[in-house]
Formats: sequence, C-alpha cells, structure tokens
Amino acid sequence: MTRPYVATRGGEQLHRRTFDVLVLGGGIAGLTAAIGAARRWRVGLLTKSTFDDTTTFLAQGGIAAAIGPSDSPELHLTDTVQAGAGLCDEEAVRVLVHEGPERVRELMEICPRFDKVDGQIVLGREGAHSLPRIVHAGGDATGSEVSSALAEAARVGSRVQLYEDEFVIDLLTADGRCVGALTLNLADGGLTLNMAMVTVLATGGAGQVYGRTTNPLVATGDGVAMAYRAGAAIRDLEFVQFHPTGLAIPGQQTVQLITEALRGEGAYLRNAAGDRFMAAYDSRGELASRDVVVRGMVAEMREEGSDHVYLDATHLDAAWLQERFPRVTAGLREHDLELATQLIPVAPVCHYFIGGVVTDVWGRTTVPGLYASGEVASTGVHGANRLASNSLLEGLVFSDRVVRDLDRYIGRLGEDVRRLSFDIPEAGPPGDGSDTAGARRRLTDVMQRQVGVLRREADLQAALAQLGALTSELRFDHMGVAEYEVLNMLTLGTQVAKCALLREESRGVHLRDDFPELDDERWRKHITLRLPAHDREDGGVIRRGRG
Ligand SMILES: Cc1cc2nc3c(=O)[nH]c(=O)nc-3n(C[C@H](O)[C@H](O)[C@H](O)COP(=O)(O)OP(=O)(O)OC[C@H]3O[C@@H](n4cnc5c(N)ncnc54)[C@H](O)[C@@H]3O)c2cc1C
Repeated sequence: MTRPYVATRGGEQLHRRTFDVLVLGGGIAGLTAAIGAARRWRVGLLTKSTFDDTTTFLAQGGIAAAIGPSDSPELHLTDTVQAGAGLCDEEAVRVLVHEGPERVRELMEICPRFDKVDGQIVLGREGAHSLPRIVHAGGDATGSEVSSALAEAARVGSRVQLYEDEFVIDLLTADGRCVGALTLNLADGGLTLNMAMVTVLATGGAGQVYGRTTNPLVATGDGVAMAYRAGAAIRDLEFVQFHPTGLAIPGQQTVQLITEALRGEGAYLRNAAGDRFMAAYDSRGELASRDVVVRGMVAEMREEGSDHVYLDATHLDAAWLQERFPRVTAGLREHDLELATQLIPVAPVCHYFIGGVVTDVWGRTTVPGLYASGEVASTGVHGANRLASNSLLEGLVFSDRVVRDLDRYIGRLGEDVRRLSFDIPEAGPPGDGSDTAGARRRLTDVMQRQVGVLRREADLQAALAQLGALTSELRFDHMGVAEYEVLNMLTLGTQVAKCALLREESRGVHLRDDFPELDDERWRKHITLRLPAHDREDGGVIRRGRG
C-alpha cells in the first residue's frame, strides 16, 4: 500500500530523482555516511540550508576518543555509562568507544588541522571524563574545521550528488518500507520525489523548540517528526540536555555557548556572592557531569533568587585564553565581555536532544530501508545524560556502521523503487492566515517556561493544553518551510511534554521538582512512542494546519 502525502500542491507535476542511497542532512553524520556510501553506491545528499549552517559547524570542545597513552575504550565506556544515569545501552556504548579511536584517526586524514604540539595530538578535558581525551581543532573551532573538511571531501573527492537549500517535507513509504523523501526546493518552490533503495536520516537535533538554545535555526526536529509520521519508533524525548554554561544575556533566542573545555582547563563557577559552590554538590566540583552541574546551578540560583551564576576564568593567562578559545573570546567581546578580566554570567540552556529515532547498533530504525545517525537518532549511547563530546563521535561511528550495513540491505532488495508512483492529494480547504512566526514564538515560549530545565506536573499539563490548542488552531494559507517547521516543532514539543509528564522521577537531565528522587524500580526504562498503525496512512501526513 502506498500512503498519500502532503496536501498542498494538488495536480502539480513533480520532479523525480533516483539514487541507491539518499542521505538527509549535511552535518557530521550525513557527510560521513554519504562519503562512505559513495565508494560503492549512487548517493544523493540533501540539506535544507548550506553546509556551514549546521550544529556540527558550531561544535566547540571537540571529539572524545580513547587515543591517549593512559586511556582505554573500557575507561571511556565506564565514564559514558556512569554519566548516562542507568539508561545507556551498553552494547551501543561498547561499539562507540571501541570503534571511535579508529574513526577519529580516519577523520584526521580528511581534516588534518587537529591541534598538535610537537607533532603530538593535544587532548582536552571536559566534565565527567576521568582523564583528558578530547581532540580539538582550531582551539575551540572544532566544528567548523571538521564540517569544512568533510564538505570539501564530499564535493571534490567523492561522487556524492549534493543539493543545498532542499527541504525534506516527508519520508516516502511503500508497503511499510522507506523508499525516499519528498522535498521542496527553496529557490524555485518545486517539489521533488527523491526515490532511493535506502534513506539515511541525519537531520540533527531540535533545540529551536525552546525559547533559548545554543542550536542553529535549522535545528527544528524535522527528522524525528517525519520519522514518527512514517511509523518509526521514537524514544527518550524527555531527555533534553541543558548545557550549564550558556551566556546569560536576556532577549536572545540563539545563545552563545561557553564550552565545557574552559572548566576543563580550570575555570570556576561562582554564585552571586562570589563563592565557588560546586564542591558542595559533587566531589568533582566544576567537572562533574553536566546534569549534576545544572542541578547545582539551579539550586544556587533559586537560593539567591537569580537567573544566572558566573563563570570565572580571570585567574587564567589572558594570552593563552585567547589562543585556546578564540571563538568564545571573540563571541564574548561582541557583548563587551572580557573572559580574562570579567566574571561571565551563565545559565543552563537547551543544547542537545538525547532522544530521537530508535536505532540498533547498525543505525537501522524500525522502518525497513530507513537508517538514522547523529543527533536525530537514539542509539542508546547517551542514556539519560550525554557525556561531553560524545556526540560528534556518535555521528562518525554509527554513520560508518550504516555504510557497512548497506551492502547487506541493498543486496536483499528485489523491487526497483524507480517504478513506484506516488499520489500527492489535492490541496485541502483554504487556510485562515494563521501567523507562522507568532505560532513559533508561542510554542518556544511554552517550552521554555513550562517544559524547561526544572519540571512540574501542573506546568507540564498546562503546556500540553496550550500546545494542543495551538495545533488545532493553525490553518496556514500557504505551506512553505516555515510552516512545515512549526508543525514539526509542535510534534516534538508535544512529545517532549508528554514524556516529561509520564516520567515521575528525576534522572540525568530530566529534573522533576515534584519527583526529585531517582526511581529505579519504576523508571529504569525508556519511553518509546510509535504512531498507531491505523493512523499511519493519513494521520501521519502533514496537512494544512495540522501537526
Ligand atoms: C554550540 C554547540 C557546540 C557543540 N559542541 C560539541 C562538541 O564540542 N562536541 C560534541 O561531540 N558535540 C558538540 N555539540 C553537539 C554536536 O555538535 C551535534 O550533536 C552534532 O553536530 C549533530 O550532528 P548531526 O550531523 O547529527 O546534525 P547537524 O550537524 O545539525 O546537521 C543536520 C543537517 O540536517 C539538515 N536538515 C535538518 N532538517 C532538514 C530538513 N527538513 N530537510 C533537509 N535538511 C534538513 C540541516 O540543514 C543540517 O545540514 C555542540 C552543539 C552545539 C549547539
């Protein structure tokens, strides 16, 4: 059975492209998968923006891998599992930490600018790592160095067909199998059926669902929402990681991150009274895991009636700070702040979606023909709290595994996807001019205020009611990228609030004010969601104004 798709462009002639492998997303996960797959298959890679507009591009601290002489994959595993607060999938973590060092060495061949001293790679330290193990490039510019090198390798050294400014609206499924994706071209507004034997979802995270986030504008959770509509299992949506040190300047949605590597290099956290406080919460002090640091900060802020604490690097050498953290220092200067001489106001900020599309250790989702890798995926490596700098590593390791699994999957396919046809229904009734930007603001405001770092039952109930009202009110006149993004963000926000309400305990990054304790007996388990089979055919389709 073929399901119907987006009801916006009745009767329009659709373009068509055909690939063996279709990769959706141009961050570390998508580029790694595409470059690897193109050694053997015809590969197309689509991204809704440009290659320098990704979360990968913004990464600062670096990539964790057990490559130092005193390190071992088993030690990296212990740190990861300990940070994960009882919910890591140990098999997946084992894959991550054992295959990680080799993948990082391969990446260094593509991106030779990782920081070295006397020919030796420099290893940084971050919270909850028991020793320095973070490789970095350009000081705190790891993401842009890695992104640029991978994009160049895809453009010049591989046969990947690259399409920028191409927005994926929906996955295409036939007989329950994923056979490609429907896209909207941002330049000419045309729709294209991209048919493929295998589709790799690498669309990144969803930080933009919150009113304040470190994530770029493209991080609207499209991948998780479209996979859910296509019938894939998604899980752990309540585990949204808030980074302890976002720059606390009021009125900005996209917040500057101040990398954890600064605390790794000796910076302190101080409360408004000027006291270091983290030792009172954890013996590791400022280098405890992110969730523990956030809890400490929240307690201090509450006690002092403040909305921020301070990061103090004034005891560190000014010239060295500039050299080691060029991005952070430049960003702060834009706000007239000097890292070497001033206390920097910081507060927890939405940073990373731990939950996502469920995969096994080969990146396979529950929908045949659909793989997922990177932040969009839930491989199980992060448990209830991601260990710093394990995310870029996850994209590298699991995209490589996806590529290795393709032979097995494509080899078994008999049917040629080129012959499938798709029925895009006529446009629905006209909209009522719903205000897209206003809807996005209402949504992010509800998420920030009521589904944020510290959660309570009454707030979560109220948030669900408001998100439900917003979902049923929206009747857009025209469906473009902004409208699809709002609908995807509503799907994500609603699922985060639902799962956060269900989980009546505090674990990892999920903090319930009304259930402050860990409850292993009831809650050492995942919350997995899947659209019921009877809803999948048309209930899972984006229609005008319905999420
Ligand atoms: C400021 C910051 C610093 C960070 N620092 C680190 C760090 O030092 N180390 C670490 O391990 N992690 C870090 N992280 C997290 C890490 O950067 C991300 O988790 C990781 O880069 C995600 O990679 P990805 O390939 O999954 O997604 P992304 O890099 O976000 O790429 C997603 C791609 O999908 C595309 N896309 C999305 N939706 C659609 C759609 N509908 N149609 C078409 N294309 C679409 C986007 O345009 C983009 O090309 C940081 C995150 C932030 C925000």
